[in-house]
Amino acid sequence: MCEWEPAYQWLTGAQVINAHTLSDFRVKHDQALKGLFVQVLGLLTADGLITLERVMQDGTKIRAKAAGDSFRRKERVEQALEQAREQVEAVQGLSEEETSRRIATARQRAARERRERLEAALEEFNQLAEEGKDKEKRRVSTSDPECRIMKQPDGGFAPSYNVQIDTDAKNCVVVAVGVVQAGNDFDELEPGIDRVEHNQGKTPEEVVTDGGFVSRDTIVAMNKREIDYIAPCVDEGGKGEGSYDGRGVSAEYHRSAFVYDAQTDSYRCPQGKTLSYEGKEQRHMQVSYRYRAQRSDCQGCVVKSQCCPGNRVTGRSVHRGEELAEIAAFRQKMATERAREIYKQRAQVAETPNLWIKAKFGLRQFSVRGLRKVGMEALWACLTYNIRVWMRLRWRKAAVVAQPA
Ligand code: SF4
Repeated sequence: MCEWEPAYQWLTGAQVINAHTLSDFRVKHDQALKGLFVQVLGLLTADGLITLERVMQDGTKIRAKAAGDSFRRKERVEQALEQAREQVEAVQGLSEEETSRRIATARQRAARERRERLEAALEEFNQLAEEGKDKEKRRVSTSDPECRIMKQPDGGFAPSYNVQIDTDAKNCVVVAVGVVQAGNDFDELEPGIDRVEHNQGKTPEEVVTDGGFVSRDTIVAMNKREIDYIAPCVDEGGKGEGSYDGRGVSAEYHRSAFVYDAQTDSYRCPQGKTLSYEGKEQRHMQVSYRYRAQRSDCQGCVVKSQCCPGNRVTGRSVHRGEELAEIAAFRQKMATERAREIYKQRAQVAETPNLWIKAKFGLRQFSVRGLRKVGMEALWACLTYNIRVWMRLRWRKAAVVAQPA
């Protein structure tokens, strides 16, 4: 287009732009690009097109520039890195008679880039360890070490990044975008709000997400920030309450089979034994009271293998959870008609930019590698989307003004 399209000829001063220059430009100048994104938001806000009264956040997976079979264990990456280092030395040692200068430069660059990618891949194993990934399952892509295998909307799995987009509900303008390595959205709302505040210098009054973001921590955090949070109630009953559910316990001996007696503040187990109050814990933002049976009762119990099979030292325990006031208030709010009506708008607002970016701009797979660069590619797409929205809204406004009275 730089060769024949007048607008691009004007932009480039009629100079020939080669593919490398254009490609490098896309991932250089990240501060300038972020600044431009914020400036456009400022203009849209000044025009009254962004209000931050209601912001919807959603995450979308975009494929990385890496194949599924590029993921390797640490030992394989170390071997490949050793070979890559030898190759760099071998290529550097080629004499000018053996190869032309241009080919030699290209080979050296390719060998150096491969070595750098493998070095980055090796470092990424430390990141996986910090994320708590099981050592046996740790694999890193040698093509794009920072991407992760993520579940796709079609149910399959692919190397991807998770793009988090915050959209102002008034005109579907994107007010913040971030790219993360997490395969789910569980911890992504607070960082998203931080990005909105950074870009707009203001906190949204109301935030809407789908159930993938809902956790006790998120509800409490939104409450602390005085943001009205709208999302479906996800019942987390049983999670993190220290119950034995899921540890090989038979269904008849799950926590629900233990009967609480408020008068004596104790539980009675299915075998009629008493579990006395032992202590209080704060888990997953929920206060939890722990009750335990006598060791002698459980160790000699005929149904021990069904009730607490792994318990060799103490008696069986159960936990009684007490919901935090913030969670109870959130549940009550989400049962109201108003909250449900607001939530119904979520899909249309939050998914509009996602659709544009993927379907209209064709960004289903990143064309660059690494968290920083894919972050810039996502930012370019959102900036372009916002400018398109801005043009559409301005034309609409101009058309209304031009209509005869
Ligand atoms: S193992 Fe302990 S808690 Fe479980 S049924 Fe037997 S006595 Fe009761």
